[in-house]
Amino acid sequence: MINLVLFGPPGAGKGTQSEKLIKKYGFVHISTGDLFRWHTKNDTPLGKRVKEIMNSGALVPDEITIAMLKEELDKNPKAKGFLFDGFPRTVPQAEALDKFMKDNNSAIHYVIALEVTEAEVRARIAKRRTVENRADDEEEKLNKRITEYFTKTIHVLPYYEKQKRLNTVHGIGDIEEIFENICKVIDQQ
Ligand code: AMP
Repeated sequence: MINLVLFGPPGAGKGTQSEKLIKKYGFVHISTGDLFRWHTKNDTPLGKRVKEIMNSGALVPDEITIAMLKEELDKNPKAKGFLFDGFPRTVPQAEALDKFMKDNNSAIHYVIALEVTEAEVRARIAKRRTVENRADDEEEKLNKRITEYFTKTIHVLPYYEKQKRLNTVHGIGDIEEIFENICKVIDQQ
């Protein structure tokens, strides 16, 4: 069983790379963003609780996020391996994930961070904006999400670095080349 965390700011191409990794390695994909979107779309009690927060682009509180993640892990006891996308985004989430893995006699084997600077993310998004003609509130939300990443989520990296589990892959450039570099990390270990 191989478990992987894919890390990176909004707009770094995590979604695209996740799809390719799932195809190649058969991971069970756990995207907390997708799970929250499912709940809001289906208007579940959890969806009702997080809707406003998500609309603002802020992070959902750890307590809610961790409980939802645990539920999802429990649903997949026979998974060959998990790919965590968009989780953990805070140190308490990273600690909770380690605990869940340990309780199942497993671990996070690879943490791969797509390295893209804040200036690069903003430049990429500005380029996209010229073709997409986004509404102002969408724009504001995106700005908030980028800020949340570079002020909060980025602090998860030293947590994994200290434990020598962090691998960085340059996240700008050709999609196939980035994918190959991610696979190299997985295949070499
Ligand atoms: P994403 O699609 O991963 O960018 O997630 C979309 C939104 O869901 C985020 O902007 C947050 O509001 C919320 N969210 C997703 N994952 C997490 C997480 N691990 N911790 C807190 N909030 C999250």
